[in-house]
Amino acid sequence: MNSKTAAPPASQHTMRVHRLLLEWFATHKRDMPWRRTRDPFAILVSEFMLQQTQVARVTPKYEVFMTRFPTIEALAAASVSEVLKAWSGLGYNMRSIRLHRVAQEVVKSFGGTIPSAPDDLRKLPGIGAYSAAAVACFAFAAQMPTIDVNVRRVVGRVLFGIESPSVKEMDQAATDLLPTGKARDWNLALMDLGATVCTAKRPHCFECPLRDGCVAAPEFESPLRQVAESTVTYKAKQPFRESNRYYRGRIVEALRHVPDDGVPLARLGPTVKDGFKNRDLPWLKKLVDGLAKDGLVFVIESGNDPASEGDITVSLPGG
Ligand code: SF4
Repeated sequence: MNSKTAAPPASQHTMRVHRLLLEWFATHKRDMPWRRTRDPFAILVSEFMLQQTQVARVTPKYEVFMTRFPTIEALAAASVSEVLKAWSGLGYNMRSIRLHRVAQEVVKSFGGTIPSAPDDLRKLPGIGAYSAAAVACFAFAAQMPTIDVNVRRVVGRVLFGIESPSVKEMDQAATDLLPTGKARDWNLALMDLGATVCTAKRPHCFECPLRDGCVAAPEFESPLRQVAESTVTYKAKQPFRESNRYYRGRIVEALRHVPDDGVPLARLGPTVKDGFKNRDLPWLKKLVDGLAKDGLVFVIESGNDPASEGDITVSLPGG
């Protein structure tokens, strides 16, 4: 036996955690269309969609998107405008641009076959450590952890308590905790527990299968903490409807419904912002320029005066 590479034997506590969580998962797992397949393209699409969007919102959009682009070749061959239209309703439109670029790169450099090795996956544009691990594990059965913010939270609470150590230590702990040969179920179980029971603000420790061995559970259940939490006042955030991200999304959404040759900036304004006035044109132009820089829109300046917003036409990008 090679003592340098062999994993240390799991402790009684670790084995108990494995058993309890996997038993819980067997009866509480969430059904999602991308969990019913091992198709790496379908899993890749779902991972991009899920990056910042809730499962309930992703599910119907995923079905439509996969019908429109059933293969990576179909997605790679589509125009940016077609991809943006199929992404409608999901928000964070840059993700669709990155996914499209990944599809084109896979077709160009890998002959249309999504690589199975995490290191190769990470070379693709827009694929980080988590997405590479998720595709490798869920599509190719790689025995590796898929560590995202939810998984870190659950593992951190169970092993270390409310005050977690550094991300590096957490990731090492999550890697060490992986049960042999059960990576897929284990990773999904941690995600489901994090989404439904061990939630960020108020974990439901009384419903949790890991409560008995969890370092954080007594801390969360302490009466002193509950009193302190009930008096916490949360800092007001800028309302989403006033943010640039909101208006960027509105612009792309409006362009999904105009002819391919676009719309003048001045006509776009009132569909994006209630009470839009001509004095808002420089603000709108700035947003549109940012979107153009990210490859989300196409801008044509037709007049002689580059500073004149009145001569600008905006559309979704073509190819
Ligand atoms: S017992 Fe509470 S803190 Fe611990 S894993 Fe379960 S829900 Fe999270």
